[in-house]
Amino acid sequence: MVRGVVPRQPAKTGRHEGARALRRGAQSRGTSRQSGSLPSRSARKPKSAGKSRGAAGKAYNPVSAQRIQEILKRLDELYPTATCALTHRSAWELLVATILSAQSTDANVNRVTPALLQKYPTVQDFAALEPEQLEPDIRSTGFFRNKSKSVVGAARKIVTDFGGEVPCDIESLLTLPGVARKTANVVLGTWFKKGVGVVVDTHVTRLSHRLELSRNMDAPKIEQDLMKVIPPERWILFSHQLIWHGRQLCMARRPKCVDCALENICHAADKTWTTVEIHKGAKP
Ligand code: SF4
Repeated sequence: MVRGVVPRQPAKTGRHEGARALRRGAQSRGTSRQSGSLPSRSARKPKSAGKSRGAAGKAYNPVSAQRIQEILKRLDELYPTATCALTHRSAWELLVATILSAQSTDANVNRVTPALLQKYPTVQDFAALEPEQLEPDIRSTGFFRNKSKSVVGAARKIVTDFGGEVPCDIESLLTLPGVARKTANVVLGTWFKKGVGVVVDTHVTRLSHRLELSRNMDAPKIEQDLMKVIPPERWILFSHQLIWHGRQLCMARRPKCVDCALENICHAADKTWTTVEIHKGAKP
């Protein structure tokens, strides 16, 4: 051996160079790509489509069929009967409530709709209004001027073009003023039991990022991403399950990761507690 040259030795810690330590108190809880080993540096630098490579050289794919099935299974255990929380007795009432729920809470909308629908019981009553007449009744839901125009505009089109009945296909629903895919999917899935898409609201957007199901920022693209990986027969329930999870545990600020049943398969960058490594490609 040449004098002064020291042979390379394995790390005394047993870990690869560059691997980050788990947070203090972290522990493994079941299967995940990190169970039993930490990812290599490359695992924290996914190159595309959320794929990365773990310490053992095994590819990590956040949208693999196995991981998706595990997420769906755990959501089923948590929220087997998740459904729309907006109070309604007809497709029209649900449509009105969904339009009003934009930038508001379902609880707030549910406080407004009983008196509103008692005052104007039918779609024809709404169609006969000027938007300004509706504004005082829905003011507390926010953005009341635009919402008044949408509700009255939708009512008029339903009366003139659809014989007073809310249409039950997405193409027709999307012609109504104030109705985009989120509202159409709520009405189709909840009232007509037709799963033609995934409801993407603020909760679904946030959880899709945290669970690495989509990297897109706008709702139509997130919906397309989800429709590619979630089986069609699960679209309706899955939307509501994510919304419920977003309300109960996975809030925008300080999610309750320590209580979350998805914790050991979640690599969100803004977790408040973790048993798994958070790679750099993870999103908040
Ligand atoms: S572990 Fe935390 S961030 Fe991940 S899904 Fe659960 S609550 Fe949300």
